[in-house]
Amino acid sequence: MKYIIVTGGVLSGLGKGITAASIGRMLKNREYKVTVIKIDPYINIDAGTMNPFQHGEVYVLKDGGEADLDLGHYERFLNVELTSDHNITTGKVYLSVIQQERRGGFLGKTVQIIPHITDEIKREIREVAEKSDSDICIVEIGGTVGDIEGMPFLEAIRQMRREEKKENLILVHVTLVPINNIGEQKTKPTQHSVKELKSLGLQPDVIIGRCRDSLSEETKSKISLFCDVPENAVISNYDAKDIYLVPEMLEREELGEYIVKKLKLDGRKVDTRWYRRIKAYSERNKDSIKIALVGKYGLEDAYLSVKEALKHACVREDYNHKIEMRWVEAEDLEESTNLDDYLKEMHGILVPGGFGVRGTKGKIDAIRYARERDIPFLGICLGFQLSVIEFARDVLKINAQSREFEEFNSPAVEDQSQRSSCVIDLLPEQREIKDLGGTMRLGDQEIDIEKNSLAYELYKRDKIRERHRHRYEVNPDYIEVFEENGVKFSGKGGERMEILEIPSNRFFIATQFHPEFRSSLDEPAPAFLGFVRAMIDFKKDQKS
Ligand code: GLN
Repeated sequence: MKYIIVTGGVLSGLGKGITAASIGRMLKNREYKVTVIKIDPYINIDAGTMNPFQHGEVYVLKDGGEADLDLGHYERFLNVELTSDHNITTGKVYLSVIQQERRGGFLGKTVQIIPHITDEIKREIREVAEKSDSDICIVEIGGTVGDIEGMPFLEAIRQMRREEKKENLILVHVTLVPINNIGEQKTKPTQHSVKELKSLGLQPDVIIGRCRDSLSEETKSKISLFCDVPENAVISNYDAKDIYLVPEMLEREELGEYIVKKLKLDGRKVDTRWYRRIKAYSERNKDSIKIALVGKYGLEDAYLSVKEALKHACVREDYNHKIEMRWVEAEDLEESTNLDDYLKEMHGILVPGGFGVRGTKGKIDAIRYARERDIPFLGICLGFQLSVIEFARDVLKINAQSREFEEFNSPAVEDQSQRSSCVIDLLPEQREIKDLGGTMRLGDQEIDIEKNSLAYELYKRDKIRERHRHRYEVNPDYIEVFEENGVKFSGKGGERMEILEIPSNRFFIATQFHPEFRSSLDEPAPAFLGFVRAMIDFKKDQKS
């Protein structure tokens, strides 16, 4: 097994994850099998309980693992499916060591960070790498060198480096090269962070300088001299117009070849198709389609996978359009007297997943706007549930609500007739559960698709597998009345409704699952391909 360890210096948020994913892509384009491990030095066991407002979206893996959004970058760049084992956190490592200790696993010894925690870290990395049956394992260490939280992980890497053959492990350090107000590239922050790394016993093999522009020869030779790496191992990673352009940029810097040599891999031909496709897309200066994403976290990162999935779909050569996103705060819609101000020129409306009652009214308003004006619509998870509620309220004239918000809104309503009808509810067997912690339905689940439907047109299969992260379902008591009134549930997982469509509309589809988590540039998600196609057609229809 070959290991590429990626650390970061100076600042967090430098795009270390994208850089690591790009390195992976370069190697994949040489037909090596690549896997990735993300280390998050926080004490949470996983990202499941983290607020997307602070951390960006919670990314869901096929085994139901809830992870940091970097795992999403890896899956999208590499078109692989990872599991929660590929996300190692301080919490997981300590939990495992403490459980061993309770079982008497340390035979009376004092349990310490070195060697017990570091041994556990090394064991987990190696086990995951070996199990993945890959040629190369990229390990990204979250945070910045020098953080207290990251120390045990860096120490474990130092030990691994002694234990592995020289050509089996390299260290790539991603750092910031700022530009001062007279336009000079400054190397001091890089020098300091490499010094910090060296003080922990780690000498980088490659230094990648994140900078607004390409690093000058002078900057490169300065970094090379002060940080003890060859000049051709100082690599520019300047701000790219599109994250998918980064692998090709690093390729031009000859990083791919450098890594191949350093790891003593056999030289292989580079397949450049992936680079060319994204390049062609970024150079398109054709028309764009406008889409409104009606969300509430005020932060694009909270819907990262949705944004990426839209792009994956749009990159298709024959689509010939670009995506123009408008981020609409659901609460702004609630306050507005004229939805046209936000939604009028849109070729598509998307309501993504979410939790909690805040903003739901605005999302329902947007869904109604799309349904009534026959604008292409895609609803995801909460967007699916709110589509059900919208239809129930407006067409079926039911005072409809989701159990999630009913409990929240009217806990004191004793008179049952005053309560709204939960068309979205827990399944009957779950309704008595008091503590809902840990009861979410997570990860891959199978869905049966009805032949004569839009969903079948998109997926071209009658059985699919998609990722989930939800607790509530369409209440089985209401399914018949929906179906009698123009809604089609074209995808089902046993008694659970998974896909809703309104066949009388040009493109109105909503899914209980999250199609965005299984989308990559190599294989865009069918629901998104269809949605983007529908937007392009809608735009053309409007023109003619
Ligand atoms: N809050 C809803 C549920 O728990 C939807 C979840 C989501 O959109 N991810 O079922």
